[in-house]
Amino acid sequence: MNIWTIYTKAIKRNCASPADASKDLLYWRNNLFAGTIIYLLPFCLIALIPGLYWSLVTGLYIMVFTDLFVVTCMVILAFVPRISIPLRKSIFIICVYLLSCTMLYYVGLSGSGQVYLLGACLFSLLILPSWSAYLSPILNTIVCVFFGLAIPLKILPWPDNLQNAAGTWIAVSSSTVFLSFLLAALIPRLFNGMEETIRKEKQMQLQLSQQQASLRQAVDMLRQKNVELEQFSYAASHDLQEPLRMITSFLTLLESKYGPQIDGKGKQYIYFAVDGAKRMRQMISGLLEFSRAGRDEDLLETLDLDEIINEVRILLRKYIEEKKAIIHTGNLPDVIFAKAPLKQIFLNLIGNALKYSRQDIVPEIRVAVEEIDAFWKFSISDNGIGVPTEYFDTIFIIFKRLHSNEQYSGTGIGLSTCKKIVEQHQGQIWIESEEGKGSFFYFTIPKQFKPQP
Ligand code: ADP
Repeated sequence: MNIWTIYTKAIKRNCASPADASKDLLYWRNNLFAGTIIYLLPFCLIALIPGLYWSLVTGLYIMVFTDLFVVTCMVILAFVPRISIPLRKSIFIICVYLLSCTMLYYVGLSGSGQVYLLGACLFSLLILPSWSAYLSPILNTIVCVFFGLAIPLKILPWPDNLQNAAGTWIAVSSSTVFLSFLLAALIPRLFNGMEETIRKEKQMQLQLSQQQASLRQAVDMLRQKNVELEQFSYAASHDLQEPLRMITSFLTLLESKYGPQIDGKGKQYIYFAVDGAKRMRQMISGLLEFSRAGRDEDLLETLDLDEIINEVRILLRKYIEEKKAIIHTGNLPDVIFAKAPLKQIFLNLIGNALKYSRQDIVPEIRVAVEEIDAFWKFSISDNGIGVPTEYFDTIFIIFKRLHSNEQYSGTGIGLSTCKKIVEQHQGQIWIESEEGKGSFFYFTIPKQFKPQP
């Protein structure tokens, strides 16, 4: 820390308000006061040496006294602790007026001495509260009238160097008084404007922090509800599996044991019941998968996308061979993500691209990736049956399907699972498609996923 920093810190500590009031108008007035002392004190000390010399040489003894008094007061104001700021300001204003009056007396009642009075008025207006604005113009009037009368009436000795005509004194003094009143009218206006802005800003900040608090509360509640919902759907789908398994196995048992006694219609009914139970099991395990989706975010690792696609190919091998499908993959990068959810997304999207292919057309599927700012954008395109525009959003809703089970088997859970995983990882998923020509499924994931606390 250099000397200047130590010096300014010491003065600010004594003359300015504490920093926590930085949004207060009083703080800025006090800060201005501290700044004034900071710069005025060295100036006074430097000016004191030639000032004292010439004052002594020329016999201006009042000036010598005033200079010494003011400099002593300024040093006390700057460095002596435990004097309240209003008292410091009052002493400062008294000093400034004392200097002004001395200058007025020596330099000229109707000349440059008046400038000191205006200066004193300005200092008071800047550092004192707005309610005291008219104090300085009144003081200026009193000073002008006092000097204007005191010297001709010989209350004060007439200084040698001054030749003051009463007319000039009246003209110049009235301008000083007028200008002082003008300053008193204008400067509080500036400060009031500042105060209004500060007040509005404070109000806005308060509103903002209230809104943020209620938003945080809502998010917490939503998170809690989400966890509860996930736990519920997980428990429900898990517990439903057991009775379902019983229904299927007893129906199968019924058919095998009492097969000969059951007629064709009865067998058909049993078949429908077993088929229904089978589909229900698929839906339940889909639901289980959905409720589990996106829970593995703590297992982030660097993943080789080619490897993931190869694993998906192996899982879908039967399908690919059956349809003689071709899967093109461009240059795929390594990404940092949890393996299971990412594989799940590719499995669902590539699986769908194979399932919803057009008859008699070899399915061609392309997997591509591009970098968009902080995200990876994936696309999985096919030349299948496509999706009508009006269903672009619907297909991502759980259990929503566009076809009957006879046309295309499925549960309507795949895309909603993808959406859930992607959104939990701060990404997006969407479709672009032309009915009868094919579809593009896009999804984004951040390059560096940061799990929410
Ligand atoms: P599922 O395939 O089990 O029905 P999804 O959630 O995976 O469930 O898909 C929802 C619906 O979106 C499907 O029923 C299908 O109508 C449509 N869809 C999904 N992928 C494609 C695709 N590649 N081409 C055409 N339609 C699709």
